[in-house]
Amino acid sequence: MSVQFDSEKRNHRKLGAEMELFISMEEAPGMPFFLPNGMVIRNELEKFWKEEHRKAGYQEIKTPIMMKQELWEQSGHWHHYHENMYFSDVDDQSYAIKPMNCPGAVLIYKSRKRSYRELPIRYGELGLVHRHELSGSISGLLRVRSFTQDDAHIFVLEDQIQSELNSVLDLIDVFYSKFGFSYKIELSTRPEEYMGSIDMWNKAEEDLKRVLQNRNTDYQINEGDGSFYGPKIDFHLVDSIGRSWQCGTVQLDFQMPVKFDCEFIGEDNKVHRPIMIHRAIYGSIERFMAILIEHYEGNFPMWIAPVQVKVLPISEKQKEYALQVKRQLENEGIRVELDDRDEKIGYKIREAQMTKTPYLMVVGSKESEAGTVSLRNRKGKSEVLNLVNAIQFMVEEVRK
Ligand code: ZN
Repeated sequence: MSVQFDSEKRNHRKLGAEMELFISMEEAPGMPFFLPNGMVIRNELEKFWKEEHRKAGYQEIKTPIMMKQELWEQSGHWHHYHENMYFSDVDDQSYAIKPMNCPGAVLIYKSRKRSYRELPIRYGELGLVHRHELSGSISGLLRVRSFTQDDAHIFVLEDQIQSELNSVLDLIDVFYSKFGFSYKIELSTRPEEYMGSIDMWNKAEEDLKRVLQNRNTDYQINEGDGSFYGPKIDFHLVDSIGRSWQCGTVQLDFQMPVKFDCEFIGEDNKVHRPIMIHRAIYGSIERFMAILIEHYEGNFPMWIAPVQVKVLPISEKQKEYALQVKRQLENEGIRVELDDRDEKIGYKIREAQMTKTPYLMVVGSKESEAGTVSLRNRKGKSEVLNLVNAIQFMVEEVRK
């Protein structure tokens, strides 16, 4: 099969419409609307993110979507990025809609005095940002104007940089392997337009290189492709048909703590400046969803499948039993739909397969009398199971 044909049938816009995951509308170009099925996937991705970050010692924050223009002048975004930003004037005050979450996290850091004992402080934020991309370049969920970054800002002491970067790389590994992705790493260095001193840049680039070398990780260098405030490591996922997608990023930043005058009191009782690490793993939830849709060709693993099982009674007579099956599945937290329309069973099975539902439970007169179900997987393989065992099997499949 050619890669082109394979890509086409995996196209996330096509599958997104067929599976009713999201839609794009003229009323908000580049700002996708999430449908109920798409929200299930999104919520599962966020839930997994929150659990893993809590375990890794992150604290979750939420900062405003719009903040006063002065803040963005101070952060440097106004100077370096304002052509891609949205603005709003209210009560004679200019606001900017955030294109990045960093300044909000900095304000929370600065909201009280900090001691060296508190560091590292890891603020995680699923932050909604808006960036004005040109209309010609927007597409589905891949290139959008509004999206949620799975962001985090970590404030560290200088001698914590290496170990913290290592922990971030470990966490990234947990996420990408969960979805069966391998990945490639690129290190991007100082761009032509940059903030801060060359010395600081050199040190930051050295730190990133050393961490990668100590992990024996292969990487490529991307000369001049860093962001204006610091060098970065980018992660390129390799999907099930060998295409690569840029997703995660880790950036070391010595500039923003200076711009915002971030401080902490050191062991010596003197005032010091922390260093900031910006990082995202999914990159953006929207983009990551697009990649997952294409990677799995819509055949999502159980834990993120919008509908995990469909119950299909063969005739009117099994409606009552089918409803019982549905209720018991629901009680175990399984996402289940009942198709009790008066259609031929073959038709209902074909339609359920079109929506790529992982499991079907077909119930006819034999099943309803014996208290069993005929459980059918995506490959069309079916077996008759006792209802209790079938439900137990579903629960195990989700947990896996
Ligand atoms: Zn940031």
